[in-house]
Amino acid sequence: MSVTRRSFLLSAAAGAAAWPDVSRLASAADAAPAKIKYIDIHTHLGAFYFGQELTAELLVKFMDEHDVEKSCVLPLVSPESAPVAQPVTNALAAFKAFPDRIIPFCVVDPRAVTAPGQRTGHVAGVKGIVDILKRYQDAGCRGLGEHKTGLFFDAPQQMFLYEACDTVGLPILFHLDDIRNPDSPGLPRLENVLKAFPKLPLIGHAAGFWASICGDATIEDFGRYPPVPKPVLSGGALDRLMAKYPNLYGDLSEPGGEKAIARDPKFGREFIIRNANQLLFGTDVLMPGQKIPQFDLLASLNLPAEVQYKIYRGNAIKLLKLNGK
Ligand SMILES: [Zn+2]
Repeated sequence: MSVTRRSFLLSAAAGAAAWPDVSRLASAADAAPAKIKYIDIHTHLGAFYFGQELTAELLVKFMDEHDVEKSCVLPLVSPESAPVAQPVTNALAAFKAFPDRIIPFCVVDPRAVTAPGQRTGHVAGVKGIVDILKRYQDAGCRGLGEHKTGLFFDAPQQMFLYEACDTVGLPILFHLDDIRNPDSPGLPRLENVLKAFPKLPLIGHAAGFWASICGDATIEDFGRYPPVPKPVLSGGALDRLMAKYPNLYGDLSEPGGEKAIARDPKFGREFIIRNANQLLFGTDVLMPGQKIPQFDLLASLNLPAEVQYKIYRGNAIKLLKLNGK
């Protein structure tokens, strides 16, 4: 106990009659758990929007301001994924500059492998992708993503990429909507992949993935965000698939993750508690000054401490095999 704290308690005891609540305040402070530091599963470095470049230095500043201990930096290389590509080398450079704060991810566009029936190009099938992924792993990459292509979620070339990630043990963080890695309501294509690779962690995000929290999601919902509030109908594909496939995870970043919970906070809170082992905190921060409503939203749900720990950082530590607790 510090001298200041001891004298505070002594004077509090002396003045207890006049100020009876002080001792209760002091014991409440003693009992308050330490604030859980976040691990952010989803950030991007570069200028996603022209003139709005997020550098590694600015990202770390943002992390310091918001109690984020570590952030995953996700490259974007597929033509459908960003106006200007964000190469893997940038994520690795950020990791080199801030090894304790940045967790680099890698990406390979599955079209690097030719479609079945075509002659082989520069990357020879699954083996060719495995060779590339191993080099990225040696350089420090802990996951593959953001996986965001114009191919159907379970297209043959996508299956080669999933098999390669399964082989080397890299979890995949994917975007799913009506045009990027598209699927239909009920997520049958995602289920094909979950079934084919039961040991491969698949972390979903974006409008189509999160629209599937709701039992009546339409293909139009896959390309837009829901209004807030809007009640969630139970029986959604996410609850069904998360119960059936422990390798399916949800990334709570960007408006998709935020609005899925905010549209119906009662359902959202119960959904988070039910699926606490399979949800990950994320921001999708990609430019300076971006407002991230997830911080206040998650705090407002008053989640049980162990659920908070799991989604704020515990699940990420396990999934990405990080040091620390
Ligand atoms: Zn995305």
